Amino acid sequence: MILVTGGAGYIGSHTLLRLMDAGHEPVTVDNLCYGHREAVLDGHFVHADLGDQQALGTLFESFPIEAVVHFAAFCYVGESVTSPDKYFNNNLVNGLNLLNVMLKAGVDKIIFSSSCAVYGEPQEIPIPETHPKNPINPYGLSKHFFEQILAAYNAAYGLKYVSLRYFNAAGADPKGGLGESHHPETHLIPLVLQTALGHRDEVRIFGSSYPTPDGTCVRDYVHVCDLAEAHVLALSYLLSGAESICLNLGTGSGYSVREVIELCQQICQKPIPHRDVEPRPGDPPELVASGDLARQVLKWNPHYSLEEIISTAWNWYQDPKF
Ligand code: UDP
Repeated sequence: MILVTGGAGYIGSHTLLRLMDAGHEPVTVDNLCYGHREAVLDGHFVHADLGDQQALGTLFESFPIEAVVHFAAFCYVGESVTSPDKYFNNNLVNGLNLLNVMLKAGVDKIIFSSSCAVYGEPQEIPIPETHPKNPINPYGLSKHFFEQILAAYNAAYGLKYVSLRYFNAAGADPKGGLGESHHPETHLIPLVLQTALGHRDEVRIFGSSYPTPDGTCVRDYVHVCDLAEAHVLALSYLLSGAESICLNLGTGSGYSVREVIELCQQICQKPIPHRDVEPRPGDPPELVASGDLARQVLKWNPHYSLEEIISTAWNWYQDPKF
């Protein structure tokens, strides 16, 4: 069985579906702080916090866990700047707790949700995995530190891991049962589509004088189902006895904020009010992945286009289930 921490969250819940399609039997553990119980469409569910050693110990005693897919973490960059204690406690201390309980139970394989935030300001585009790691906020630092903890546990205790560094996750399950539901919502595509639905007055474009073709920030948007697929492939990779590795998950193509809004207007078939405002602190002009290593090592091939990312998300926001 596979333990999925944070399986009630956005990427976790989509990955659960793919794990089941691939024949795995998942157990979700989630404290439902930000996740949704309704997003766990199948499998066992345990309501617990990763800080609760006793609950985790019981979980590992109750289920024959082979490997862990670890999503549970806080992920708001802005909040991490104002409340670093919250981020280091959950993303590091609770994560470490999980690793220690795993080792005690003899479980030595983990897939970790990392982020392109480990790189900080990019020095080259596309960004390879070897790029220097200079995170510029506590969220990115928490992901970078945890990767280093994984490397130390690998060296000392033989813990095997795949750290997946996501670029901009977006989109929704094409069948309509799952989608993105963050409270508060801070991500571009959900905000633009919620504005199209009239739930918000306008989209604010953070910065229009960046050194990019149209002056707005460029990001590498990757469909959540492509990310889910990468986790299933990473799991097979680890279960086959392969070595630990860190991999970027991005498409290698960048789109500007204006291009995203334009495509959303075409898909929603309506004008979406937007205006330029000041840049958001800490936003680099361009973040685009070099995805070569994941393609080579996992045979991962992201196949959703930006248009499909937006259409599946649009489909979800018109009738969100939670
Ligand atoms: N963005 C924006 N307006 C918003 C939210 C985001 O202009 O209301 C921009 C943001 O500056 C970034 C891009 O959209 O360049 C993607 O932001 P998001 O928060 O979705 O993801 P991030 O790149 O921060 O992980």
